[in-house]
Amino acid sequence: MIQLKEIRESFLHLLFPHVCSGCGTDLISEETVLCIHCIANMPETNFHLYPNNPIEKKFWGRLPLASATAQYYFTKESLMQHLMHQLKYKGNKELGKQLGRLMGNDLLASNRFNRIDALIPLPLFAAKEKRRGYNQATVLCEGIAEMMNKEILSDVLIRTQHTETQTKKGRMERWLNMEGKFELLQPGKIQNKHVLLVDDIITTGATLEACGQELMKVDNLKLSLAAFCYSNR
Ligand SMILES: [Zn+2]
Repeated sequence: MIQLKEIRESFLHLLFPHVCSGCGTDLISEETVLCIHCIANMPETNFHLYPNNPIEKKFWGRLPLASATAQYYFTKESLMQHLMHQLKYKGNKELGKQLGRLMGNDLLASNRFNRIDALIPLPLFAAKEKRRGYNQATVLCEGIAEMMNKEILSDVLIRTQHTETQTKKGRMERWLNMEGKFELLQPGKIQNKHVLLVDDIITTGATLEACGQELMKVDNLKLSLAAFCYSNR
């Protein structure tokens, strides 16, 4: 005879399948989102341990950073691409938090990062955030904050669309319009502080650079950078 408890469990599993966000295998613990095999297969950079790492070099002459890192290598058609897709387009917020916790764990172990005062997620356009339901950088910050016990400041700056609408735009201007611009709202909140700007992926670094330039207008601000992953092409 089928037990009532079993029926209830299978029913719950149907409604809320508890499977690994990376490979789809059943998870034993309700607390995690990724299985140990997937976590072990994520290609770590360990950049948080090394000054002058490729991320810091990327920003030389562009942005005065105290420290910078991206914790994993992004590769196409891989577990990493799948995870990023889940985070950005599939509404998998819980996965984002788990990835943030992994980042926080690493950053906590590095004295180049563990003395920061606060976390700042790279802002999205308001319309985009509304459509997605969340800002993936904020979700990563939530996971990082859990491990490091740091404050998240998501109202210090915003990202706005450029308003000039010219019919004949150059490539650079069109690009600027696409990426928007960043505006400081509450510079007083981060004055004399060491803040960590957080994003999901670093490719060219142009958006982070634009955001960082705006943050550097704040008096006596120390800026560091951390991304979940790094795509070197
Ligand atoms: Zn897995």
